[in-house]
Amino acid sequence: MALTGIEIFKLLPKINCKKCGFPTCLAFAMKVAQGQANIEQCPEASDEVKAKLKEASSPAIRGVVFGLKNKPIKIGEEQCLFRHEKKFFNPPVLTRRIKDIDENIEELVEEVLNSQIERVGEFLKIDAIFLENKSSDVEKFTTALQKIINKAEIPVILGTFNPDAAKSALNLLKNNEILTKNRPILFAANEDNIAQMTQIAKQYNIPLVITAKGIEKVISLIDKASAQGIEDLLIDTQPKTAGELMRDNTLIRRAALKKKVKSAGYPIITFAMRDSEFYETVTASLAILKYSSIIVLNSTPKWKNLILFTLKQNIYSDPQVPMQVKQDIYRVGEADDMSPIIITTNFALTYFLVKGEIENSKIPTWLGIMDCDGLSVLTAWAAGKFSAGKIAQFIKESGMEEKLTHKELIIPGYVAMLKGAIEDKLPQWRVVIGPKEASALPAFLRNYMRNRR
Ligand code: SF4
Repeated sequence: MALTGIEIFKLLPKINCKKCGFPTCLAFAMKVAQGQANIEQCPEASDEVKAKLKEASSPAIRGVVFGLKNKPIKIGEEQCLFRHEKKFFNPPVLTRRIKDIDENIEELVEEVLNSQIERVGEFLKIDAIFLENKSSDVEKFTTALQKIINKAEIPVILGTFNPDAAKSALNLLKNNEILTKNRPILFAANEDNIAQMTQIAKQYNIPLVITAKGIEKVISLIDKASAQGIEDLLIDTQPKTAGELMRDNTLIRRAALKKKVKSAGYPIITFAMRDSEFYETVTASLAILKYSSIIVLNSTPKWKNLILFTLKQNIYSDPQVPMQVKQDIYRVGEADDMSPIIITTNFALTYFLVKGEIENSKIPTWLGIMDCDGLSVLTAWAAGKFSAGKIAQFIKESGMEEKLTHKELIIPGYVAMLKGAIEDKLPQWRVVIGPKEASALPAFLRNYMRNRR
């Protein structure tokens, strides 16, 4: 059970030697309690105290690592019920189901590989493949896996209830020396096969999903698997409706974090597959919002990916840290002394949208990003952080007056009212009103450059 800062402080030597990098033992204790410092940073703490704190600070939800060794995926280790209490740490893994009876396995793998998009400076993609032993045939399952590994190095979940199929697939990975480079997850152990599946998971040292209808049955099977020494477990309670999904996932998270039920402290896998694309997307969205660590999808068209990527990225950002970029003048393309200069705020989404649209315009441009505490243009203006005086000061300090052979500054259309005040403070400059929306920038810039010539 996690200790408070004061409880940790009581265990420390209380000599304020500063060797941990903090001014006092109390300050250090508070940081350890918040998970922002490690007891190993205190060389003065005894081994006994270190052991006690490590035990107390072990995560209530186990972190499970799988996938590529050089790019491992960690799930679990969440610390709160609500994002605003701290933050959610390890984003859910979006997984595409491929059946071993599918005739176009290579094509489907290709689709997964091509799913990557860049959004607000982050690369998002379908992260893994769930290979389902739909045929119930050992050879078909193994052949399908062979096709996947021939095509790509990608994290895989092996979906079969047949221990022979599981062993055959794992032997294939082992014989191809893939098992040490790409750790799969085995789905699943149920009431009927738990003895064999735990043995296989142990033998190959891979995470194992425990599946049963309802929390009580799952927890009883989790206890059986734990008793066999399996630590990397995942939970599937087989919810059939949105209500069941919300109820089961919430109860599991609450039991792990608030009641300290160790058997509930594992990541959750959710099968979002539904007959309709609409309901599959809604189910997957609920799973992202409510605690699922792996979400299996039946299909991954771009429109669905975009919805789920955006939701996942937003839910797993830190609510206490505004998404912002560093104040600077960024060179987009081969901008030179004749290139236009646009100014905006350092809200990350604004930066990436504006930069993306400048790139789309193919017109090399200087992009001035002003530190406005990560606020968007209108909010920063309303808060007095994106004012004429501050913009003028930023331009003067940026060195752009000397660098550019022109003196024209493009400001966002939303703050057109600042034009006169900026020109008063920068008498050499002419202020040009840009568009309100970033999407209008390519046309605006092309037009602007045409009229300049
Ligand atoms: Fe206190 Fe240990 Fe930090 Fe020294 S190193 S100030 S004893 S917590």
